[in-house]
Amino acid sequence: MATITYLTTIEFGAGALKTLPEQLAALGVKRPLVVSDRGLERTGLVGTVLALCPPGAVAFLDVPTNPTESATHAALEVYRQNKCDGVVAAGGGSPIDLAKGVALLATHDEPLERLAAIHGGIARITPAVSPVIAVPTTAGTGSEVGRAALITLDDGRKLGFISPYLIPKRAICDPELTLGLPPFLTAATGLDALSHCVETFLSPRYNPPAEAIALDGLGRIWRNIEKAVAAGGDIDARTEMMMGALQGGLTFQKGLGAVHALSHALGGLKEPSLHHGTLNAILLPPVIRFNEGYVGDKMERIKEAMGLAPIADVASAFETLNRRLGIPAGLKTLKVPADKLNWVVERALADHSHATNPRPATALDYRRMLDEVMV
Ligand SMILES: [Zn+2]
Repeated sequence: MATITYLTTIEFGAGALKTLPEQLAALGVKRPLVVSDRGLERTGLVGTVLALCPPGAVAFLDVPTNPTESATHAALEVYRQNKCDGVVAAGGGSPIDLAKGVALLATHDEPLERLAAIHGGIARITPAVSPVIAVPTTAGTGSEVGRAALITLDDGRKLGFISPYLIPKRAICDPELTLGLPPFLTAATGLDALSHCVETFLSPRYNPPAEAIALDGLGRIWRNIEKAVAAGGDIDARTEMMMGALQGGLTFQKGLGAVHALSHALGGLKEPSLHHGTLNAILLPPVIRFNEGYVGDKMERIKEAMGLAPIADVASAFETLNRRLGIPAGLKTLKVPADKLNWVVERALADHSHATNPRPATALDYRRMLDEVMV
């Protein structure tokens, strides 16, 4: 086990969950709200987490697939009624993002919309945000060390809430918690993490330390994702995947790109409800093809990190990986209606990840990328 402080303090390694009581004590949290979901209640994890919390801790478990404004308010009610003073988020990206939303609304007297990044919320979010301890149960989101929460407003827009004060005060990354993750979710969340490493690396913002971390994370995920999918109990592969996902999260500060601009937009559709990681896996190859030629020597450095030959095609390599991991062929397979694509393009252009795609994308460019994966 190791303790790392970079953006925040991370307890990393098999068995790290056991440190939860001391992390709560260090932050002075006496009545935490545990935000998780019904699936993790069935696996027994919620009970384990509650048992590690002080008496008086309560749980909110009705977290939707994509966190919503109304679910955030429902959790806030529980937080206030029980006079909670901090949040423990246990789960994938959705419980962690919803927990950040609760910690934000509990301390900021503003409508949620006004706190969104695209509405000037970055300047309105203060250090008053309640302390959050994130306990990821997937190796994917990186939200455990990220400064953003993605929440779908009641009007259907999936907006980013961004602030350094939204970074959880502690991330407890225990790869043992991912041992039971089924193969399909291991693949889809792992490819989300892979897309974070690729997109933050390609972002034009200057941040060499983040680029070094992103490339290292990409290599770890590339070398281990098939092992983790094929043999879920392989703790070494699970540990490497969790580190790769953590590294992807540590580099969010560089900004993401077109993959996430489009997947955030698609994730805002009420019907069908789409999995973020699956979308990113599908979108990554066309976005890489669009960006190639606009990123200096970075494609060469990506190939090096992945151990590919200099003549290899990165987009094709990711397409082959998607097939081997059983990712659905495209958006049509996921039942995305063709008549929603123009709405998706509009939302992508307004997304906070749009600005850091290395090659500026127009509405037509986005439409072409979507059409390429409408299979
Ligand atoms: Zn993502």
